[in-house]
Amino acid sequence: MEEKPQTNKKEAKCGRCSEKIPKGEGIKHSSRYYHEDCYKEWRGQADDRTQLIEFIMTLLDLKKPTGMILMQIKRFQDEFGYTYKGMELSLRYFHEILGNEVQENGGIGIIPYIYEDATRQYVQQMKINEAAQNEDNYKNEERVVYISPKGQPKKNNKLIDIDRL
Ligand SMILES: [Zn+2]
Repeated sequence: MEEKPQTNKKEAKCGRCSEKIPKGEGIKHSSRYYHEDCYKEWRGQADDRTQLIEFIMTLLDLKKPTGMILMQIKRFQDEFGYTYKGMELSLRYFHEILGNEVQENGGIGIIPYIYEDATRQYVQQMKINEAAQNEDNYKNEERVVYISPKGQPKKNNKLIDIDRL
């Protein structure tokens, strides 16, 4: 079957934000139209979801994601507004940075307990790692990150000012 042109011939509603798309500005995907930005965001999320699931499968040594895990991901997203990337970072934080072992029959139920701290501190850590490769970007006394084993940031006025990195 021949590919139809990718733009809408008349005004359409965006499949993501439900706002109107002016004629000729929609991007077609699976019989729906999207604003260009909405489409990119949606594709990005689809990629993030794939990456999250692949990470979980590696982490838990699964050949495919269980229904339970897919349900949990959906619930965390719908109920708590978590992003796929944030969920992945939470698990990386918990297991890779804090070094917690994966429990037998473990799942991803830990995410809501660590999400806020994990995403904040993980992003901070990433920025520090990046900055460490370019030492001129920041001063020596700021090159300290506080991550306590319990995931609670220590109150300390020397904490990194993210905006300055
Ligand atoms: Zn849109």
